[in-house]
Amino acid sequence: MSLIVQKYGGSSVADAEGLKRVAKRIVETRKAGHEVVVVVSAMGDTTDELLDLAEKVVPVPSGRELDMLLTAGERISMALLAMAIKSLGMEARSYTGSQAGMITDAQHGAARIVDVTPKRVRDALDAGYVAIVAGFQGFNRGTGDITTLGRGGSDTTAVALAAALDADVCEIYTDVDGIFTADPRVVPAARKIDRISSEEMLELAASGAKVLYIRAVEYARRHGVTLHVRSSFNNNEGTIVTNPKDGEIVEEPIITGVAADLSEAKITVVGVPDIPGKAAQIFTIVAKTNANIDMIVQNVSTATTGRTDISFTLPKSDAATVITALTAEQAEAGFDSLQHDDQIGKLAVVGAGMRTSAGVTAKLFTALFDAGINIEMISTSEIRISVVTRADTVNEAMRVVHNAFGLDADVPAVVHGGTGR
Ligand code: ADP
Ligand code: ASP
Ligand code: MG
Repeated sequence: MSLIVQKYGGSSVADAEGLKRVAKRIVETRKAGHEVVVVVSAMGDTTDELLDLAEKVVPVPSGRELDMLLTAGERISMALLAMAIKSLGMEARSYTGSQAGMITDAQHGAARIVDVTPKRVRDALDAGYVAIVAGFQGFNRGTGDITTLGRGGSDTTAVALAAALDADVCEIYTDVDGIFTADPRVVPAARKIDRISSEEMLELAASGAKVLYIRAVEYARRHGVTLHVRSSFNNNEGTIVTNPKDGEIVEEPIITGVAADLSEAKITVVGVPDIPGKAAQIFTIVAKTNANIDMIVQNVSTATTGRTDISFTLPKSDAATVITALTAEQAEAGFDSLQHDDQIGKLAVVGAGMRTSAGVTAKLFTALFDAGINIEMISTSEIRISVVTRADTVNEAMRVVHNAFGLDADVPAVVHGGTGR
């Protein structure tokens, strides 16, 4: 008998029909003789709707209360799913994150898992039940409060439970057939990938491919959990995320996938004195806000003024805080002004084969030039090249780059559900 963790995303349990369909699938797995732990997300776009609601009540809600609110979403779906399974004649028990032993630090909205003590889940399995766990939520022992793991965090719940219970596989069920070479909603010619290394998936997730949450991929890699991303709408094989062992040879395509991110903004610090210590001073101010800085570009200073401009990207939601912090210390830091641009898009091409292949950058830039798309910033890692463009050109950029690297499939990709929100 094997132990399978199945995670169902919001798009798979968007309505009563979806819940019943998923329940049937769970019952079939259990009847096939496997122990089943289910992690479930909030129904459809519930989390976004709760966030919209909170914002209408107060512009900046308290982290503690926001977590209290958002965790209600998963509580609804887990209870309904348990009822649906029971109606099919199988025993199921639902558990909140804290009941399932998801212990986190105290950082509301982005808590990290520090321990997993799934005794009640294990006991439920031993009693022959299907155990259903609310995704995305945890509990901090110090404050005694409920936390959330950040958007898309149910993936992490599933992986953490799979690791703690020593599951054979962690299946991530969603509204597409697996991990594709690009978001199939944006690039219809995207093709399904059968196997992808966790290293490449990490880069894609970090670059905006929300099919898997980056922390879940990291956790799976660290704990050796095998992930299988697949559709809850059919029985097709999806994509296996592998953790190749040291020295193991795997075939590495030059470009594995393309991703885009529209959630970032750009801040430019204009007229920074070009003397040692200024970058340190500016980024120390930024660091105090806890904002996650991504790309940084410093221009060459002009000899006449001895001043330079520094641009960086960060999540849109952090921009206001960072601008306030920098403005407060403008006199000491000695820069002239700040510019804020929230109409940027970031495009990334990822592939482990890039390490050993020349000409990838030239091909990327040529494809963008041919499509008349201007590049504003560039950054690279060993297996990724990212560029910033105007927000309204990034989807077109994905399509032309996907085509230029020969990734286009002959048949259009199928999206089974969801709203892409
Ligand atoms: P769930 O509700 O199951 O958590 P998500 O909306 O979080 O689903 O993730 C699935 C979506 O991720 C897909 O519908 C697709 O639009 C998007 N996506 C982005 N990049 C990719 C990719 N490379 N492969 C597959 N899906 C992708
Ligand atoms: N419901 C949460 C979200 O929408 C967690 C998840 O779906 O993974 O972000
Ligand atoms: Mg998701």
